[in-house]
Amino acid sequence: MKTTSRNAVIAGNWKMNYGPRQASEFAGEIVPELDQLVEHYPQIVPIMCPPSISLPAVREVTQAFPRIELGAQNMYFEEKGAFTGEISPAMVRELCRYVILGHSERRTYFGETDDIVNKKAQAALRHGLCPVVCIGERLEQYDAGQTEDVIRFQVQHSLAHFPADAVREVVVAYEPVWAIGTGKAATADGAGKVIALIRRLFEDRYGNEAATTLRILYGGSVTSANISEFMTHPDIDGALVGGASITHDFVEIVQKVIETLQG
Ligand code: PEP
Repeated sequence: MKTTSRNAVIAGNWKMNYGPRQASEFAGEIVPELDQLVEHYPQIVPIMCPPSISLPAVREVTQAFPRIELGAQNMYFEEKGAFTGEISPAMVRELCRYVILGHSERRTYFGETDDIVNKKAQAALRHGLCPVVCIGERLEQYDAGQTEDVIRFQVQHSLAHFPADAVREVVVAYEPVWAIGTGKAATADGAGKVIALIRRLFEDRYGNEAATTLRILYGGSVTSANISEFMTHPDIDGALVGGASITHDFVEIVQKVIETLQG
């Protein structure tokens, strides 16, 4: 049996899939099942992150199931104003508690830097949101043996300046970019080593208590076929799931997490 005081967070990143109608249908299928599964497991936190435009529709479904959390996939750091197309932290907070920030697709296609990600994470914390901050090395960096340096830099810059009273709300997702959407997941040992490094770096900055409570997830081609491997690793607190989160496999993943926790 895995012994940790940290919650197991299983977050589904739906990416740009399912508009309000389809999102509502899909949520209607899986939410009652998820709720039943986690009923006796308060330590498991399932989070669904649909496109922002579908959040209200999914929220209608989850309202009767308070154990199922919702998250946005992005937001801007400003409060309001002339930022066409963006949504503010307060707008997100009206609908949900979590927000994914700095996903590699945002970094790659929309030019998000560590500085921007950090501003967003700080804004999220100011508004009572839990930021799920994504970091991870690209394939060429992995091949060149630069993973540690990249992670060190990203922790220093994406995860900086968090207020002591809010730092426990932060969730980090280690997502090696080469593992996202490729079907080539990292090994649990490989991911666990990087996650242990992230925790040490977090400790240097925020102290032992903050590092001990920090939830660090693995993300990259997680499915029901490999989740147990990751969840049995002592350093891995959960998963950020992309492709498999928009299928029934998300329910199977949560089922496997329960089995892992039972030992
Ligand atoms: C993701 O989008 O964060 C992700 C990990 O995707 P996938 O599970 O499809 O690799």
